Amino acid sequence: MSARPHILIAGAGIGGLSAALALLARGFRVSVLEQARELGELGAGVQISANGAHALFSLGLEPALQTVWCEPAGKEIRLWSTGETWKLFDLGAVSRQRYGAPYFMIHRADLHLILLRAVKAVAPDAVTLNARVCGFEEHSSGVTAICENGSRVMGDALIGADGVHSRIRNALFGDMPARFTGLLAWRGLIPMERLPERLRRQVGTNWVGPGGHVVHYPLRGGALMNFVGTAERDDWRVESWTEQGTTEEALNDFRGWHEDVQTLIRNIEAPFKWALLGRDPLARWTIGRVTLLGDAAHPTLPMMAQGANMSIEDGVVLARCLAAHDDVPAALQAYEAARRERTARLVRAANDNASRFHNPALGDAEGAARYVDTEWQEAKVKQRYDWVFEYDPVKVAV
Ligand SMILES: Cc1cc2nc3c(=O)[nH]c(=O)nc-3n(C[C@H](O)[C@H](O)[C@H](O)COP(=O)(O)OP(=O)(O)OC[C@H]3O[C@@H](n4cnc5c(N)ncnc54)[C@H](O)[C@@H]3O)c2cc1C
Repeated sequence: MSARPHILIAGAGIGGLSAALALLARGFRVSVLEQARELGELGAGVQISANGAHALFSLGLEPALQTVWCEPAGKEIRLWSTGETWKLFDLGAVSRQRYGAPYFMIHRADLHLILLRAVKAVAPDAVTLNARVCGFEEHSSGVTAICENGSRVMGDALIGADGVHSRIRNALFGDMPARFTGLLAWRGLIPMERLPERLRRQVGTNWVGPGGHVVHYPLRGGALMNFVGTAERDDWRVESWTEQGTTEEALNDFRGWHEDVQTLIRNIEAPFKWALLGRDPLARWTIGRVTLLGDAAHPTLPMMAQGANMSIEDGVVLARCLAAHDDVPAALQAYEAARRERTARLVRAANDNASRFHNPALGDAEGAARYVDTEWQEAKVKQRYDWVFEYDPVKVAV
């Protein structure tokens, strides 16, 4: 049997490392080129639903993940003004029983570190830091990734896993038009001991209001509370995970909201602000020996909490396709064909949730109760989420 191909991956984020690990497990040689000088404690919480959990568990990561995740009993909807609470859906045992895997919340840095350690355990030199890929050259028998520092790395395929502002995507298809949604998301972490007992519960909470919504859930075995507050504001257009704002500014965006929301915001250690940009799904991701993965392929609004899950699913399906097809370009086409429709549907579902969460009907308590009863009826919620959680990237046809 001929040697397995050498796969180049631009970006050591959640998707790039998941792909690297899935490829290494199947005997491929992998080189991951990452722009950052060091990989550190960045970001806050991400939600991993059963579909993402299947993929991570197939990579042997369940024991490590268990030590740092939080598995909430369920999710609730709360009303911005009165704090009235409705059940959204059960998680915990229900997720395990219905979808065959848990739904858990995890600090992005913890998930990232677990993936990185697992990659290094198999291939200690697989990840090169300080290597920003700025282009590539394709030849008849391979592809060369070109880095800004002048280094060139040759392989059989190049995977652009370089995030929402992907250079590889731009090189393949040109600039991707982005629409500013008029929404700004505040993100932050709260040490749990700062919160009153009533807010320390092991559930995920979605507050909904006429011009915004707030999501919070526990992390790191309950030591931290993750906060994401989305407000309608059009004076901030920077799409970044690292721009800091002030507590006063965040409070101002949720003026008039329930005291519990104010308490959460007042206790955020460092509030980060992030402008939300929407993009339509791409018609294609692959040309020859080059393809895209994760946010580079299908950037999404966060309203389905599927950005990280999609990138992890991509990694496992990509590795399965490369293992199943001897011809590299054919494998990349098979990967795109297996993933494009699902990810486009998820991007559209997140866009739909943006208007659902911020609906004007939520302005007064009576209208809100009617709206919540209609929009979050059990049958409708199942219809919106079952197809997302039922998907198993380890088993789908490739
Ligand atoms: C610093 C950071 C913090 C985040 N925090 C959160 C969070 O708190 N909650 C949440 O839900 N999501 C967060 N995200 C986004 C989330 O990780 C992604 O939406 C999701 O996991 C999809 O993963 P991805 O691998 O496609 O992209 P990402 O995880 O964004 O990874 C992309 C990687 O590519 C690297 N890269 C970019 N350009 C180049 C280039 N030209 N050459 C080489 N490498 C390049 C980046 O440095 C990064 O490591 C964060 C992303 C980043 C980068």
